[in-house]
Amino acid sequence: MIIVMKRSATDDNIDHAAQQVEKLGLKANVLRGAERTVIAAIGDERVEGVRSLESAPGVDEVMSVLAPYKLASREAHSTTSVVEAGSLSVGGNQIGMIAGPCGVESEEQLMTAARAVKAAGATALRGGAYKPRTSPYSFQGMKTEGLKLLAAAREETGLAIVTEVVAPEDVDLVGEYADVLQIGARNMQNYRLLEACGRSHRAVLLKRGASATLDEMLLAAEYILDGGNSKVMLCERGVRTFESHTRFTLPLATVPYLQEKTHLPVVIDPSHGTGHTSLVPAMCRAAIAAGADGLIVEVHPDPENAKSDGYQSLTCEAFEKVMAECRRVAAAVDRTL
Ligand code: PEP
Ligand code: MN
Repeated sequence: MIIVMKRSATDDNIDHAAQQVEKLGLKANVLRGAERTVIAAIGDERVEGVRSLESAPGVDEVMSVLAPYKLASREAHSTTSVVEAGSLSVGGNQIGMIAGPCGVESEEQLMTAARAVKAAGATALRGGAYKPRTSPYSFQGMKTEGLKLLAAAREETGLAIVTEVVAPEDVDLVGEYADVLQIGARNMQNYRLLEACGRSHRAVLLKRGASATLDEMLLAAEYILDGGNSKVMLCERGVRTFESHTRFTLPLATVPYLQEKTHLPVVIDPSHGTGHTSLVPAMCRAAIAAGADGLIVEVHPDPENAKSDGYQSLTCEAFEKVMAECRRVAAAVDRTL
């Protein structure tokens, strides 16, 4: 950590700031320049109270050198972590392909989707049983009945189940049926939920909040890791911008950025990231070209009658075609699908 003193700082101010640094358990190295004095604080700066030093007399700015997250950092683990959950593996050479409807609506809808995505080569089935909807009047999901249908779909197809958990008290129940607990964008900073998922032995797919920075997402992941659960995948699903032609703006630079900063595997959601079926195939291909470790794609047997997100869902036939295209892109970047 670097503490930059004001031009007007007195010797007393500098001595005081240096003492405060030492009080935090760090070593203070005072560097007096011609214009300004800076104090280099040596040691693990991620201790409580460092930013408060900015309130000390004569201090201009306190600058962090280390990333605020420890366990998620690539420094903690130089190779990409491989998260395994049943048939799904994300982070290795093979790209994880999670596909299925936005929400579980009926046995017929789910089983049709499950059989189709399996036949096309998906490695996991998605489907929300608990749907966190913007409007309380929208379809809220089939809840426990939906979980049971998901488990039945796994039974028949062998596909790992990825489904959202919206409340800390539901984590154990959802974990009984699911292989991967999805934390939705709306809940990325629900710290009680993150802690509950940290105590679970199920893998977690953590989606980025629509207005969350990547540091905030990494710190949210840190809660789960710190709770003892190392099976965390990060998911970019688009952020809110001034652009209104797409539902969200999907920043694919997230992939190489996160891969520099963290060992956690990165999944892209081109469905929520674009909000338009017609844009999804190109973003699937682009995500793989950018190095994504996995994709999560909404596929519905009858999108025009879907109870949620039909406008961004691929038909089963379109998904099969996307898989074939993605396989070619994956091969071009030395990955498999
Ligand atoms: C979903 O995956 O259906 C979903 C609700 O996604 P998000 O949390 O990214 O909006
Ligand atoms: Mn959805």
